[in-house]
Order: sequence, then C-alpha cells, then structure tokens
Amino acid sequence: MRRLSISYKVLFVMLIMVSIVCTLVVGLLLKQSSSQEHEINQSLFARDVTRYHQLQSLLGDRLSVWVESLKHQGEGETLTEAQLQLQLQRSSDFLLLQWDVSSVWLINELGEVNFSEGMLLPDSLRPMVMQTLQQGRPQQGVYCGNFCEMVVSTPIMLAGGKTYAVVMTTSLQELLALLSEASQAELALVRQPDTEVGYQSSRLYLNSTLSDKQSLMMRGVLRDLPKQTTIKRLITRGIEVVSGNNAYYAMLLPLFNSNANGHYVMFVHDIDDRKRTFKIQKLIIFLGGLGLVLTFVVSMFVLLRRYSQKLEALSNMLPLLANKRFDEFKEQNKRSFFRNQWFSDELDVLGSAAEELAEKLETLDQQVTVNTAKLEKMAMFDSLTGLPNRNMMTFQINKLLASVNREKGGIALLFIDLDNFKKVNDSHGHHFGDEVVKVASERLSRALRESDLISRFGGDEFVILLNHVETNEQVESVAKKLTAEFVEPMCIAEHTFYITISIGIAFVRDSKSNALEMMRHADTAMYEAKLLRGSSYRFFDANMNKKVMRQVELESEAQIAMKEQQFFLALQPQISLKTLKLVGFEALLRWRHPQRGLVSPGEFLPLLEHTPMMAELDFWVMEQAIMLLSELRTRGYPGVKMAINLSAAQFANESLQPYLTELIAKYSVDASLIELELTETVLVADIERAVQVIQQIRSLGCQIAVDDFGTGYSSLTYLRSIPSDIIKIDRSFIAGMMEAGTDRNIVDSTISMVRKMGLEVIAEGIETAAQLNQLHSMQCQYGQGYFISKPIEQQVLWQVLQSQVINGRWVLLHNT
Ligand code: C2E
Ligand code: CA
Ligand code: CA
Repeated sequence: MRRLSISYKVLFVMLIMVSIVCTLVVGLLLKQSSSQEHEINQSLFARDVTRYHQLQSLLGDRLSVWVESLKHQGEGETLTEAQLQLQLQRSSDFLLLQWDVSSVWLINELGEVNFSEGMLLPDSLRPMVMQTLQQGRPQQGVYCGNFCEMVVSTPIMLAGGKTYAVVMTTSLQELLALLSEASQAELALVRQPDTEVGYQSSRLYLNSTLSDKQSLMMRGVLRDLPKQTTIKRLITRGIEVVSGNNAYYAMLLPLFNSNANGHYVMFVHDIDDRKRTFKIQKLIIFLGGLGLVLTFVVSMFVLLRRYSQKLEALSNMLPLLANKRFDEFKEQNKRSFFRNQWFSDELDVLGSAAEELAEKLETLDQQVTVNTAKLEKMAMFDSLTGLPNRNMMTFQINKLLASVNREKGGIALLFIDLDNFKKVNDSHGHHFGDEVVKVASERLSRALRESDLISRFGGDEFVILLNHVETNEQVESVAKKLTAEFVEPMCIAEHTFYITISIGIAFVRDSKSNALEMMRHADTAMYEAKLLRGSSYRFFDANMNKKVMRQVELESEAQIAMKEQQFFLALQPQISLKTLKLVGFEALLRWRHPQRGLVSPGEFLPLLEHTPMMAELDFWVMEQAIMLLSELRTRGYPGVKMAINLSAAQFANESLQPYLTELIAKYSVDASLIELELTETVLVADIERAVQVIQQIRSLGCQIAVDDFGTGYSSLTYLRSIPSDIIKIDRSFIAGMMEAGTDRNIVDSTISMVRKMGLEVIAEGIETAAQLNQLHSMQCQYGQGYFISKPIEQQVLWQVLQSQVINGRWVLLHNT
C-alpha cells in the first residue's frame, strides 16, 4: 500500500495555511505602504497648492503696498492724478528692475486708461479692474497672452476723492523660482489649447520653464505621462510618472483668472529616492513574509521529521509483531525510540508500550506453543496414566484394520473393565480410584508385548490392541495373563483392594470391520464377562448382540412397568423351627408382564443390574416392604419382621441410610423389625466399606442378614469381621443336605459355628418335612421354603395369613 506519512500531510496543510496567512499579511502591508506613498503624494500636492497661493499673494501684496505707499508722497496732501502718473512714469525702471513689472496702467472710475506703460490693457483684465474699483480692495490674477504674467490691481484714492486703479503685470518667473525653491519641485507653465479640463494630458505642451535643463526634463515627463491620464486627474490627484529611468510625481495647478483658463503650473517632484525607499520597504515586507513561511516550513519539517520517523518505525515494527518476528522488532525498537525521559515524547511512550506488548506477546506465544504441544498430547494421550487415549486407539485400530490380511493374522481388541471399581471410587474417593487405575495400567502394561498397544478410555476402562494374532488361543493366553496380574490385591496407602478385571474380546481376521464396531463388540463381550462375576473373559459372538438388545428392550419395558404398576411384592414367611411361630417375611419382587405373564426376578434383575432403573426399583421395593411392615402391626401381627434384599448398587448408594431413616419415620415402624439381606459377594468386594455401611444401617436399629451364605468363597472367619445378625444358609446346601454327606456336614458345622459366634441362623429353600426336621435337630433356629410356604402375593397376603396363622403359629399344611 502506498502511503504518505501523516507528518507530511500535516506539513502540507500547515504550509498552505501559513502561506495564505503570510500572503494576506504581506499584501496588507504592501497595500499600506502604497497608500502611505499616496498620502505623501497627496500632502505634497496640498502643500504645493498652499505655497503657490501664499507666494502669489505675497508677491501681489508687495506691489499693492508699493502702490499704496505712493498716496502719501505728496507731503500731507492727497496725490493728484498727474502727480501719480508722474510718479508711475519715474518708477517704471525701478519697477522693472526691482520686481520685473513689465506693464503699468492707471485706470479711473470710468474704466478709462489714464496712464499706460508697456502694452495696451487687454480687455480680459477689465472685469478685474472694475472689481477693484467697486470693492476698493486689491485684486490679483494671471494674464496669459503670448506668455503668462501675474496681474495685480490696486485701488488708490487720489485728490478729489476719486478712486483709481493701478494695474501692474509682472513676470511669473519670480513666483515660479520661489515656489520651486520652497516646494523642492521642478515647475513649469504648461498649456492646453482647448479649455476643457477632461481632455487628455497628451495635449499639454510646455509654455515656459525656469531653465533649459528643466525644460528637457519637463518635456520628458509630459511625453511619458500615461496616455489615459486626464487633466482632471492631474489637477485633483497628480500622477506618478517614470521618465528617463527616474520616478516623478507630477501635478497641475490651474492658474486662476478667467483669462488663464488652459494654463497650468506643473509641479514635478523627483520621487525617485522615496520610490526606491518604498520599493526596498516592500521588498523587505515581501522577503520577510517569504522568510517567515520558509522558516516555518523548515522548522515544522525538522520537528515533524522526528515524529514521522518514529511513526514510520512504528508502522514498520507493529506488523513484525503480527508475524511473530520478535527479535527484529526489538532491534528496530531500540534504534527508533528515545529512552531518555527528558527527550522522549508520546511516541516514545508508544514505542516502549509496544515493546512491553512485544514481550508479553512473546511469552504468550511461547506459552501457546507449549500448551499446543500439551493439548496435542492430551488429544492423543490420557493424562492420568500417560497411555494413549480413545482417539489414538481409534486411529491405530483403523490403521491396522486397513492392512489386515490372512497371512499376517488378524487383530484382537480386548476391552477391559475393573470389577468393583465404582465401589472403590464411591467409598474411598476419586483419589484412591485414580491410584487404582494407575496400578491397573501398570499391571496391564507389563503383561503385554512391545507390539501390543494399550490405551485408557477413561474411568476404569482399558482397551488393548493385539496385532498379528492367528488363533483364539493366542488371545486367550493374553487374557489369562492379564487376569493373573490381578490375583494379588492392590495395596494403596495401607488399604487393600481386591480388584479383578473382566475382559471382552473382539477378534477379526479381515478388514471388513471398523474401529467403532470392534470397540462396541469388545464392550458387549466385556459385559458378558462381567456376569461371570469377575476375573473372566469372553469372546464376542453374534448372540451377545441379541442379548444386549434384549437388555435395552427390558430396560424400557421396566420403565413402563413402573409407571403402570406391573411390579408387586410376594412375601415368603419365615418361621421358628422350634415353635413354628411366624417370625417374619422375605419381600420378593414380582413382575406381572402384560405379554409374558409373571417374570421371575432371576430373569430380569441381572439384566437391569447396571442400569439406572435398578436403583429406582430397589427403593420402590424398600418402601413397599416397610409399608407392609407397618400394616402387619395394624393387622394384628406385631413383632413380625420384614427381610428386604439389597442389590449391590443399592448397598453402595449414598442415599441408602437417609432413605431408610426417612421410611422408618414415615411409616413409624420398629427399625429392629427391618432385616436387610446382603449377599456374600457384595459384602466381600470391599470389606472395609461394607463394614462401614453396615454399621450405619445397624445404628438405625435395622438387622443385617448374610444371604446365600456358602456360595461365595469367603470363609466363616472372614465373616467375623462383618457385623451381621443373621446368616442365611443357601438353599443349594439344603437341597443336597439329605443325600450327600458333605452338604449335611457343611450345614451342620455352619449352624453350630454361627450359633457359637452368637448369631442367628436361618435355612432357606426348605422343601420337605425331612429337611425341616433335620435342620431343627441341627439347632437351626429359623426356616423358609416352599415346604412352609411359597412366596405369597401381596394382594392375597391378609387372606392367606388369616387361615395360616393361628395363635401366631404357622400352620403347616403337610404332615410333619
Ligand atoms: P433369594 O434372595 O435367595 O430369594 C429366595 C429365592 O428362592 C426366591 O426366588 C424364592 O422364591 C426362592 N425359594 C424360596 N423357597 C424355595 C424353595 O423351597 N425351593 C426353591 N427352589 N426356591 C425357593 P425368587 O423370588 O425368584 O428370587 C430370586 C432372587 O432374586 C432372590 O434370591 C434375590 O436374590 C433376588 N430378588 C428377589 N426379589 C428381590 C428384590 O426385591 N430385590 C433384590 N435386590 N433382589 C431380589
Ligand atoms: Ca434373599
Ligand atoms: Ca438366598
């Protein structure tokens, strides 16, 4: 982009402005100077006119005085005419010599010339003479015949009281000479043949001058008068003329007297010196103006140049910042700006601000670079474990899939989830969760080969990619190796965690699949592995998809079921084996499906286990059961307990205790009549936390029963650390108790040990009288099973109880 520095623009504008101002001022001064000159001319003019009149009357008066003096020469008597004539005759030489008087006339009152010396009295002088006689006062004038002369007419009273006029003509030479001397001007008499004043000066011609030299100059002036100059102009204002390289001021003064029309005295002042002085003055004014403009321009230029240089520097430097050329920026900045506080200006401030800005930008830029690198890493790697993340893994899977072929073998994706991880997180906080994840990532990594890729998908999910795999067995061996890594419990900050893993495997031998599909398959297989209750792996097969779909379907069905009240409870009585007294009920969930009829909890609960629906259902059961408990009392069955099954999720739920508290208060039930059943596997998964929760529950007054006892791998000793109230011997042992000796022994020893520990024991799944009797003989306190009663549907409960419970004892329908 072409650009013109702002300072040059300012300079340009200033230049124009200053030039205008200077031109105006200079013009004004010049005009003033011209008018001053004109005024001088005018004053010259006025002075000359006055002088002329003064001198004329002076010269005229001189003659008049002389005439008047003649009157007194007759020794006291008045002079007679004859005496006067004589006197005039005698004085003619004197007059001529003394005053250059060429003609003298004596004229009586009748206008007759009584005496004459010189020429004849011209008729044009008669009016003047008559005026003198009438007014009795001297008159002066000019008469021009061949040449011009001054005429003085003086009245004189002679003997006999007669008044006469003595008229004399005298040359104008003396007047002109005196005038010339007084006015410092050259004078000449000029004449215009025509009498009109407006006529042009070109028609003037010289009549007489004082000298020949003067006559030459005058002729020159007359010749050089501008052609258009009028007589009027010369009379009223005068004019400047340049003649023979000399400047003159010329003016005309009309000689007055009627006869003198067309005759003028021309004044010519040599104004050359003055002209020159004024010229110099004007030159000085002009040069002064010019000098002022130049000085201004130069100083402005010098001043603005610094600014423009700095601005220029700034305009060059700032784009460098935009291009991140910080070093060049600093270099230029150092060169272009003052750092001295006395000489610096706002642009220097701008410069240093720009420098600061540059420094900040540079650090920011560096930070951005570092952060970008971090972000790039983050986009590809997991920050907690440093393992590649989902993005990276997806990328790698797709890359490998593209190159899969049969010779090199297929690729296997292992989707790994830590069992019970949620519990660790919930019970010990996220910090422990993170530690567990880190340990898990180390353990997984060390079981792998170099060529295998491991990644973390967030939470407790890891995905491992195996390359060049030929058989299922190869994958299996890796899966086994991985699960083996988790046999040993994790010890984190004095806490011991029994963490196992579930692995879902997707294995492809061709490139038809894609990363997303493989991951979904592996994930599905992982959920199947989860159902195997830890430390297991499953290969994906197409049926799994169906199952997953079934699960999704079930979940939405369960939601509808909840709204449409398809769920209800069935209550299975628990009795004392010794007295057959009804001691309690176990609340069991039932689902009357509109199409499929009654669906057993064993069918749908495992499928809903990992869905949000489960918690809702759990709490619904809890409220129903407690409601029934309170109804039992009001219906006349006080002291009968209610056993409620707790799912693993519900057990881990923070709101369990507050919810229980709320229900106890709401239905005002005796908390000790509430019995919560927890399976062994739920309890041992995280024993520390289990103990903690159990203590909370027991603090409310509720009882804890260990359900399905014997199915887990926990020993009785292990059980000791769990503060429970009742042990429920699993029905599988009861079923086998009568036939095989092992089960009977287990049941027998379990009962006696439990009783020794001071706990109560109940046998579930009693289906025969023999079992009941046997258990009774083994000192088992309580029993529950089909033999006693099948679970009774909620809506028929009261009806059944009426016929089955007599005096608080359960009436066995079979013979014992
Ligand atoms: P469980 O806690 O062991 O419940 C006892 C199961 O044994 C019940 O099955 C019951 O009908 C059945 N049973 C009772 N007496 C006999 C007998 O003499 N012989 C045989 N063969 N079976 C007997 P159900 O109701 O199908 O429940 C299955 C499991 O579902 C329960 O096992 C329990 O773990 C779970 N469950 C049931 N209701 C709930 C519930 O409301 N919440 C939770 N979390 N789990 C529940
Ligand atoms: Ca149970
Ligand atoms: Ca059970």
